[in-house]
Amino acid sequence: MDRILRAAVPPAKPRLSALAAVLPRSPLTRFAPAPTGYLHLGHVVNAIYVWGIARAIGGRVLFRIEDHDRIRCRPEYDQALVEDLAWLGFVADEGPVRQSDSTSTYEEALDALAQSHHVYACDCSRQMPYGGRCRTRRLAIGAGRGVRVELEPRAQRFDDGLLGPQEQEPATQCGDLLVRDRDGNWTYQFAVAVDDYRQDIALVIRGADVLDSSGRQIQLARMLGRETPPVFLHHPLVTKASGEKLSKSGGDTGVRDLRNKGLSPADVIGRAAAACGLTMSARPIDAPDIVELFR
Ligand SMILES: [Zn+2]
Repeated sequence: MDRILRAAVPPAKPRLSALAAVLPRSPLTRFAPAPTGYLHLGHVVNAIYVWGIARAIGGRVLFRIEDHDRIRCRPEYDQALVEDLAWLGFVADEGPVRQSDSTSTYEEALDALAQSHHVYACDCSRQMPYGGRCRTRRLAIGAGRGVRVELEPRAQRFDDGLLGPQEQEPATQCGDLLVRDRDGNWTYQFAVAVDDYRQDIALVIRGADVLDSSGRQIQLARMLGRETPPVFLHHPLVTKASGEKLSKSGGDTGVRDLRNKGLSPADVIGRAAAACGLTMSARPIDAPDIVELFR
């Protein structure tokens, strides 16, 4: 039984030569947490993949703080992300940069998008997939209304660096994309697609929980004028024994909690590496040595 379950899990290590072959020289990737909570083991797993793969293929890492959601993000979490990442020993080549400093960039991107695509105001409550009710209503864009962009029904195909060939159809899965919500927040999908384009991110390495977002971000990138969207790689998540996804409010998995219990940075990284299947047991690993897990 256990053997069958294990066989269904994708390989934890990517084929780096295949990945490097489709990437530019010294590609830029990013570590991009949201300051909506403290750094936890799930983030550490992501950091292991991001820094490990980047170092193994001669790439660079940008540290991006995704604070586009002004309601859920808090300055104390922002500061804690920076401190905890430094404590763990992960050193970015660029950044940190913050989405909250990019408002004019998003406004310019929206203006450019509106030149070539149908962008419209929407006063509906959130729904997935969105049915397109406001597409022809000609509402004025303004306070209290969201902004959407019409998506052509088109399949997006891409070769995930770990999961292999993928096909998604965003227009069917989510409907016309929300770019800015009714409270004036730029949405995750839009902010990330714009950032990855403007910051020249060639490789996106993140957890498999956001695999469905990739087709949307590829389609949006092309609509924004990006000829070569990033290469995506989605890695396994850390799960609790029950199989449920770790949450930031999980308490027992916070980097600060583990540090307070007396664990060293190498202990925490080793625990995360074992929890996602990169190593067989939780032996201590220093941040600069994680590249060995991918060579
Ligand atoms: Zn609507």
